[in-house]
Amino acid sequence: MKLQIPSAVLAQTFHHLRSCGGGRRECQALWVGPWAHPSLVSEVRHPRHTASAVGFQVDHDWLTDFWLDLADSGSGVRVQVHTHPGTAYHSATDDAFPLIHTPGFLSLVIPQFAQGPADFTDAFLARIEPDGRFHEVRIADILEIV
Ligand SMILES: [Zn+2]
Repeated sequence: MKLQIPSAVLAQTFHHLRSCGGGRRECQALWVGPWAHPSLVSEVRHPRHTASAVGFQVDHDWLTDFWLDLADSGSGVRVQVHTHPGTAYHSATDDAFPLIHTPGFLSLVIPQFAQGPADFTDAFLARIEPDGRFHEVRIADILEIV
């Protein structure tokens, strides 16, 4: 079963990526869903972070609170989403620092600081496989906008 992304969550994600990144800086958004419904993303969270044109760093305290929130609400991060200045792909840094190391965890990269179409056009998706590493997967096989 594909992971279902409500169109409202997708629209909100692009709003965060565009308004925070301003077409000049990378930005990250996290897609969260309830463990009771493993195939559903229910909301997007925009971490407190610093960023430049070539990277970003999530605030440590924000992340600590976020993990506690998720534990309380029985939810988990399904997909980490972030922007790149140009082409969407997985950089060595992206490969080296996943938010979560569990097989099945997804990482979506949006090109052009999310200034293009607010969908998966030219986006890149990678998934952590049982070997513990990210491998590219086809977006149409994994994600479904609902
Ligand atoms: Zn941001």
